[in-house]
Amino acid sequence: MDSEPKLSVLFTRDEIAATVSRLAAEIRHDYLDKNPVLIAVLKGSFVFLADLVRQLDFPLEVEFVRLSSYGRGTESSGTVKMAPGALSQIKGRHILVVEDIIDTGLTSAFLLDYLRRRKPASLKFCTLTDKAARRRGPVNIDYRGLAVPDKFIVGYGLDCDERFRNLPDICVLEQ
Ligand code: 5GP
Repeated sequence: MDSEPKLSVLFTRDEIAATVSRLAAEIRHDYLDKNPVLIAVLKGSFVFLADLVRQLDFPLEVEFVRLSSYGRGTESSGTVKMAPGALSQIKGRHILVVEDIIDTGLTSAFLLDYLRRRKPASLKFCTLTDKAARRRGPVNIDYRGLAVPDKFIVGYGLDCDERFRNLPDICVLEQ
C-alpha cells in the first residue's frame, strides 16, 4: 500500500485571507461601477472565487469554465482543452479571469486569447498564486496574490488527483 503523502504548510488560512482581502480591495477600486463578469477556471478556483466575491460589494456576474492541461498527476501535458459549454455574452463586457494558480501560463494564455477574440470591453487577469519560475511565455497578471516556489501545492481548492481541495491552508505536497 502507498504511504500517505507528506504535506507541509506554505500559506496559512490567515495569510490566504489577508491576500484575498488585498486583492478584493484592488479589484473593488477598479470595477466598482463596471458590472464585471468574473470568469473562474474550474475546478481549482472555486474556493478562491467564493471567498473573493463575498468581499466585493458591487454588482458583478460569475461564470465558470473548465479547462484542462493536467491529466492525472502533477505534470502539465502542455496542451490546453476547453470543455464544451457556452459562456454567456463576452462582447462589450468587462471580463476578469480568476485563477487559482499560474504555472507555465499555457492555460491562462489559451483562455485570455479565447476571450480576447470575443471582443470584451476590457480583459484582466487575477491569480491567487503565481509559480513564476516555470513560466513558458509572458502572461500579464493584473492582480497577483502569493508567489509560490517551484513545488506542487495543494489545498484551498487545489488538488492532486482530486484530493486535498478541502484543506483550508495551502500546502506543499512533498513528492
Ligand atoms: P499552467 O497552464 O499555468 O501550467 O497551469 C495551470 C493549471 O495547472 C492550474 O489551473 C492548475 O490546475 C494546475 N497546476 C499548476 N501548478 C499546480 C500546483 O502546484 N498544484 C496544483 N494542485 N495544480 C497546479
